[in-house]
Amino acid sequence: MITRMSSLFLRTLREDPADAEVPSHRLLVRAGYVRRVAPGGYSWLPLGLRVLRRIEAVVREEMDAIGAQEIQFPALLPKEPYEATGRWTEYGPSVFRLKDRKGADYLLGPTHEELFALTVKGEYSSYKDYPVILYQIQTKYRDEARPRAGLLRGREFVMKDSYSFDLDDEGLARSYQLHRDAYLRIFDRLGLDYVVVAATSGAMGGSASEEFLAVAETGEDTYVRSTDSDYAANVEAVVTPAPPEQPIEGKPQAQVHYTPNTPTIETLVDFLNAAGIGRTFTAADTLKNVLVKTRNPGDREWRLLGIGVPGDREVDMKRLEASLEPAEVSLLEEADFAANPFLVKGYIGPAALADNGVRYLVDPRVVRGSAWVTGADKPDHHVVDLVCGRDFTPDGTVEAAEVREGDASPDGHGSLVSARGIEIGHIFQLGRKYTDAFEVDALGPDSKPVRITMGSYGVGVSRLVAAIAEQHHDDLGLVWPRSVAPADVHVVVAGKDEAVAQGGERIAGELAQRGLSVLLDDRKATPGVKFADAELIGVPTIVVVGRGLAKGVVEVKDRASGQRDEVAVDEVVTHLV
Ligand code: ATP
Ligand code: MG
Ligand code: MG
Ligand code: MG
Repeated sequence: MITRMSSLFLRTLREDPADAEVPSHRLLVRAGYVRRVAPGGYSWLPLGLRVLRRIEAVVREEMDAIGAQEIQFPALLPKEPYEATGRWTEYGPSVFRLKDRKGADYLLGPTHEELFALTVKGEYSSYKDYPVILYQIQTKYRDEARPRAGLLRGREFVMKDSYSFDLDDEGLARSYQLHRDAYLRIFDRLGLDYVVVAATSGAMGGSASEEFLAVAETGEDTYVRSTDSDYAANVEAVVTPAPPEQPIEGKPQAQVHYTPNTPTIETLVDFLNAAGIGRTFTAADTLKNVLVKTRNPGDREWRLLGIGVPGDREVDMKRLEASLEPAEVSLLEEADFAANPFLVKGYIGPAALADNGVRYLVDPRVVRGSAWVTGADKPDHHVVDLVCGRDFTPDGTVEAAEVREGDASPDGHGSLVSARGIEIGHIFQLGRKYTDAFEVDALGPDSKPVRITMGSYGVGVSRLVAAIAEQHHDDLGLVWPRSVAPADVHVVVAGKDEAVAQGGERIAGELAQRGLSVLLDDRKATPGVKFADAELIGVPTIVVVGRGLAKGVVEVKDRASGQRDEVAVDEVVTHLV
């Protein structure tokens, strides 16, 4: 296929857009791939749409390869299924809600667990029907508090979401593993440098969960990784060697909840309300950052112990209590610190979370306990061992369990360094949260009903366009990996000469005939403008047809390495195919 730039719907920009904070945003706008329509809403222009479609194709191939079947739901969904699972409320302000002309409530789907569970229930009834994996590549809507960085955090974005349905836990583990392997293949094929980190499972509810993070300074997720092994973890899920489920010396353990690294009052309020503390919080509340919970050995339930205030690492419990509303103070009193020296009396503030990983200030007595730390929207427990017994300060506080550069990796290999990444995929073993809500059962061989167990698996397809661009660019522009580039070869006609134009046409034609997709710059522009655009657009191979043609040569440039070769005209096609 040949795409002629003389008629391509494309205008590149010389200047960076004023609102662009990160390279991918800047370059995707400048190179004419996307245009902003609203906060977190972008239109795809021809080149951008091609990259998006190529990523979708890779995702689709790998999903099909694990036997997943593609279906498609509407984005406009009725409230009732989401009400049945509690998510109509849980999602809070992140959901776009609307009413139809009759006053019925609708939402624009932020994720589709409910609909998939209901659909499977509607179609399948026997154990013989299972397992099944269904997926869609579809537009999602989330009213993100801070849409950001162009495609990286949109309010309308494309996600591949799949859902597995199995008869038992082993089946779920298999479906999860199939997805995990498929995701590795997808992200490898897309040319990404990424890590897989243990994650907590968020508003999805459930247990095992991993995130795929594209390594990028501009990412919003902080993780740690070992210098010498594959070990990597979300900082919210750092596991140190103390066994998480075992109460230490039979004493109570504490759980510290904190909001994401850059908490907003909105995320915290959502979190507090979802935590079911017994009162409703609003953004006007002064409490901001931390929820401390406790449980006794053997207890399944956690009790709220306290709520911290942000940013002030010197704050003590008295000040903390003084900063609380009466409702929280009484909750604090519920936990008897004097009688129980093993409760965490610490807190975490954003300042403490700021640089490289996690720091805690805890009561020294807690050094014989351990703390559970989860993300704000993440109910599952991952332990951060606060057992350290070091660095006591005279006033009795201790800095414990800092995860910072140089700490030993929990797997015993190398030390930890902290880094940032972009969440490009997320896989969850949901278990039966949704199938319980909708009573999704299969009739077993003994005619007894078996409750189906579920997994959900997301890939941020539109976010990937930006994530790849974050990793594949230089000062001059985008540098696409071949697997997703908007064309295979960019043929630049450099010169006004009719022979040069014809030479360009001929080479483009021959390349296209051999199955390559060609972007042909046949515009009436100066070579300088054309070269700059070719670098900006980022097609992996640039063929310059210019003065050399008279001598029978063209220049073939590798966009990534910058290497230029003079190649005989007759050999260009074999050189490239
Ligand atoms: P994040 O932590 O970045 O807000 P998430 O954990 O809320 O993402 P999931 O619910 O796990 O997202 O959705 C699956 C995938 O969808 C994510 O891994 C991410 O790649 C993508 N995604 C989520 N939110 C957005 C968004 N606002 N814009 C673009 N892609 C998104
Ligand atoms: Mg999110
Ligand atoms: Mg996330
Ligand atoms: Mg996620």
